[in-house]
Formats: sequence, structure tokens, C-alpha cells
Amino acid sequence: MYDIIVIGAGPAGLTAAIYGRRAAKSVLVLEATTYGGQIINTLDISNYPVEAHISGFDFATKLYNQAVDLGAEVLFEKVIDLKDHGKEKEVITENNTYQAKTVIIATGAENRKLGLPEEDKLVSKGVSYCATCDGAFYKNKAVAVAGGGNTALEDALYLSDIASKVYLIHRRDEFRGEEATVERLKEKQNLEFVYNSNVTKLNAKERLESIEVTQNDGTIRMIEVDGLFVAVGRIPENQNFAKLIDLDESGYIIAGEDCCTNREGIFVAGDNRVKEVRQLVTAASDGAVAATNAAKYINNLSA
Ligand code: NAP
Repeated sequence: MYDIIVIGAGPAGLTAAIYGRRAAKSVLVLEATTYGGQIINTLDISNYPVEAHISGFDFATKLYNQAVDLGAEVLFEKVIDLKDHGKEKEVITENNTYQAKTVIIATGAENRKLGLPEEDKLVSKGVSYCATCDGAFYKNKAVAVAGGGNTALEDALYLSDIASKVYLIHRRDEFRGEEATVERLKEKQNLEFVYNSNVTKLNAKERLESIEVTQNDGTIRMIEVDGLFVAVGRIPENQNFAKLIDLDESGYIIAGEDCCTNREGIFVAGDNRVKEVRQLVTAASDGAVAATNAAKYINNLSA
């Protein structure tokens, strides 16, 4: 029986593993794919304290090594179910079943897609979900960004320094993201706001050539672009826990800053939790809080 099983080896999960080990608890991390989570695809992280610039790969590798060097066990197995038997939790993967006193769910979130027919086929052929990863491929080319949150705004800002033209397409006439960023975008000569509109079709031969944009009044416009950056939010990866753990209407695990879920001994950390700011630094913060509270819970069990 492990003290703590962490599900997910992204920044939240690996930080939880570090804090768990530093509290002298046995820690197993289960990861379905590779360590690092979404950050591993980021070219340059420049908003994490101390490191002014670091690649996502280097960041994730350092974090992974730190957790492993401290004695966390990491297994690459996909978790498919979680059971709560009170003082014992059962984590079921595709191949095995593991027991723990506590569980930290740190499964993160995946990019939401537009759901257009050719979308999957055109990934890396004009369609991208990460401007910082792929923006450099569109130097002096025309691109579009779909979305109205902070990610879309920041992607548009970033791309406006690289691309010849940026269309920012949003389904409403008001942005969800910060006004300050909108103001900066308004100063960009090569940026066009396309309000009250949705991307409704992707036109491609080998690569993306243009997009069909439909306004809310039904008017259709064709826009020639080499790239489309989709930034319409993310979907928390909590499907496997929905039977056991309370989720909000968008599928995020309901928990406050203490990272406690509705189940005693089961904690949540990172982007799959209900929260205001989803950043690398807040994911790491959650990992620290969740593991510290898991350790306290374990100590109380044996007190
Ligand atoms: P988000 O805030 O959930 O915004 C998603 C945007 O996509 C919304 O504008 C939404 O439109 C639109 N949208 C959703 N589904 C759509 C669809 N099917 N078709 C067209 N548009 C659709 O997601 P996010 O921008 O990725 O940000 C996620 C979180 O990270 C937020 O809390 C954000 O503040 C944070 N973040 C922070 C920073 C930073 O602090 N620097 C940077 C990036 C992200 P509606 O507005 O109409 O719903």
C-alpha cells in the first residue's frame, strides 16, 4: 500500500510527488503517456519564477528527475478507475490495481477542438493548438486564431509579431480574456478582429489554404490563411473519476485552494480543478498543497 498515489506526471503531479517524498511518504506516480503534461510542448517558458527562459522539455525533465531522485516511483500506465474504500483507495490501470492511503488527481486538461471534419487530419498541416510551439512556422504568412479567452488573445499577440496578418475570430463581440491584452491587440496594424463569428469549414489540399467563417447573422466569409490556431479552451481529463468525485458543469473537479475533493483522502491538483488562474506556477502550487494535505491526512490516520 502506497501512502500517496499521484495520477498524472505533469507539473502539478510531479510537484506533488516532490512534496510527498519530502514529507517522507511513499509515492507512486501513474502517467498514461509521457511526463511533463502539456508544458512539454512549449518552446519557451518565460513566466516561471527564477528561470527567465527555459524550454518546456527541459523544465519537465528537470522536474521529473527531481521527483525520481527524491524516491518517487513513476509507472507509465493509464488509470481507468478509482475506488474509495475509506482508509484504502484503489487505483485501477489498464493492467494493474494499486492501493494507497491517499490519491492526488493531477490529470490536467486537453485542448478543446472546434469539431470540424478535417480538423484532426490537418494538425501540423495548418491547424495548431499551440502558438508558442508552432508560431515560428508562419513567419510572414497569414494566420487566424479562434477563441476569445486569454489564450486566444495572447496567441494573437504573439503571432502578430511573426505572421504578416492575424485574424482573431471570436463567437461574441466581447472577449472573455483580459481587457489590457485586447487594448494591446488594437494597436497591432496587422491584426483584424472578426467578431460574432465561428470557423465553420477548413479548406485544404495538402495543407490548410483557407477557412470559412460564418457570422452569427448567417453571412459567410472565406479567409485565406496558412495557419489556424485553435484556442477555444480546454477539457479537464476527469472522465474516469466522475462517478466518485464531484465535478462542476464544465467537468472540473470541485475543490478549493486546499485541493480537497468531496472524498476524504482524495485530492486534486492542477488544471483539472475549478480555479481562476491555470498557469504552470499555480499547477505547481496545487501540487505542493495537495501533497502537504495528503501527508497531514495520513498522519492523522495513524495518530
Ligand atoms: P477560456 O478562458 O475557457 O476561453 C475559451 C474561449 O473559447 C472563450 O472565449 C469561448 O467563448 C471560446 N469557445 C469555447 N468553445 C468554443 C467553440 N466551440 N467555438 C468557438 N469558440 C469557443 O480558455 P483559455 O483562453 O484557454 O484559458 C483557460 C484558462 O487559462 C483561463 O482561466 C485563462 O484566464 C487562463 N490563462 C491565463 C493566462 C495568463 O494569465 N497569462 C494565459 C492563458 C490562459 P465564450 O467567451 O463565448 O465562452
